Amino acid sequence: MSKQPTKPSRDRVLLVLGAGASIGASKYPIQSSIQEAMAKMPSGENFFRDLFWQGKTQAHGPRHLNSLSVLCPGLNDTIVRVWGLDKELEGWEPEQWTGINIEDVFTFFDVGSSMYARGTDYQRGFRANTRALESFITSTLAVRSEGMHCEHLMHVMSSLSASDSIISFNWDTLADFTVAIWRERLETYVELMGAKRLRIGSFLHRGVLLKLHGSLNWIVCRNKRCALHGRIRLAVRDCKLLQQMDGAYTCPGCGSHRGRPFIVPPSSQKLITPGTTLHKLWLLARAQLPFFSKLVFIGYSFPVTDFYSEWLFRQIYFIQGKLPEIIVVNPEIMKPRSAVSRRYLRIFRGCTMHKFASLEHFRDDGLKLLEKSGSAGEQALGSPAARTSTKERSARTLATTEPAASPNGGPAKPLLSSGQAEGPPSVS
Ligand SMILES: [Zn+2]
Repeated sequence: MSKQPTKPSRDRVLLVLGAGASIGASKYPIQSSIQEAMAKMPSGENFFRDLFWQGKTQAHGPRHLNSLSVLCPGLNDTIVRVWGLDKELEGWEPEQWTGINIEDVFTFFDVGSSMYARGTDYQRGFRANTRALESFITSTLAVRSEGMHCEHLMHVMSSLSASDSIISFNWDTLADFTVAIWRERLETYVELMGAKRLRIGSFLHRGVLLKLHGSLNWIVCRNKRCALHGRIRLAVRDCKLLQQMDGAYTCPGCGSHRGRPFIVPPSSQKLITPGTTLHKLWLLARAQLPFFSKLVFIGYSFPVTDFYSEWLFRQIYFIQGKLPEIIVVNPEIMKPRSAVSRRYLRIFRGCTMHKFASLEHFRDDGLKLLEKSGSAGEQALGSPAARTSTKERSARTLATTEPAASPNGGPAKPLLSSGQAEGPPSVS
């Protein structure tokens, strides 16, 4: 794939990956029994209980292990206290941790540290808990995802063209290592993240991976005297290969080992600072939006506090022409009264919507929806060279196709009349 912008196409596909994409992933390669035992990725709602779950190994059967009390005992004690759990560590009950949402915990500490003056013991205590939580998350998720790609996602990505893009809201690196199966996609990702001054125009017509909530393998140097201080660095080896976490924290600028992953905590306090790399990635997502004819949401539930994401996708109503088709892969979308179904209907009024219960179903029955309507400028990515799963599945169609209802019963119209701009001016 050329590094020059490809011919503009308005028939591009955007994949959007949420937590469910990681939970439903078919991870490869699994190299040890302990990796197998810890293969399950956590949901946001039952984050700790899911993380504490371990599958069977040669040494033990399925069980729950409170890794938080081992790795971050102070943080464990704080959560036990604030959420009113049984204080006895002996005989702790995993079910007590059901419903302790990672977002609620982050929000609790963020609110706490905003209530007290900087430098006070209370403020420092809340900040320390936030840091401990970030550190716990990064170390436990890294074990579960580094170096692994998702077989289902790989098949889905085989159907994409070179100019199709991917947004991931997940901190884990499953999307990164799946993208890396295609050399051109990896090169674009490395170029995007390595740009000293990110110019949106340079990436507008190219297929990019945008990790809009940060990533475990985006490292920030903490040494204030380092030239790289405060800058996000994608952990790569020899400028071209994704690096696993071992050694990734060592800063190439100053040699400090105290780098920290850049992740956006899921709390209602989160803000994206103007002018930062993350801000520009969001603007790039917005700038690409008019070029997508299909938006595919895999395991993404539009959490109510994801204000930025709702802002981004509501911009489709500023775009002239046909509304994009929406493809939702999520077990909850199959239930018409679920909160997820209601959210999608509310955000994507008037859009044609296709529904799939799981990534496997979408992989088996939905990929034809991603076929292009004969645009000559498109360049297919094709199948990756190796590691294709040979698993054959019996196809069972769970897909349904229906237009999302608009408030007055008919299909909704774009909100802008012709002649109006397609949203913010180009940013570079
Ligand atoms: Zn440094």
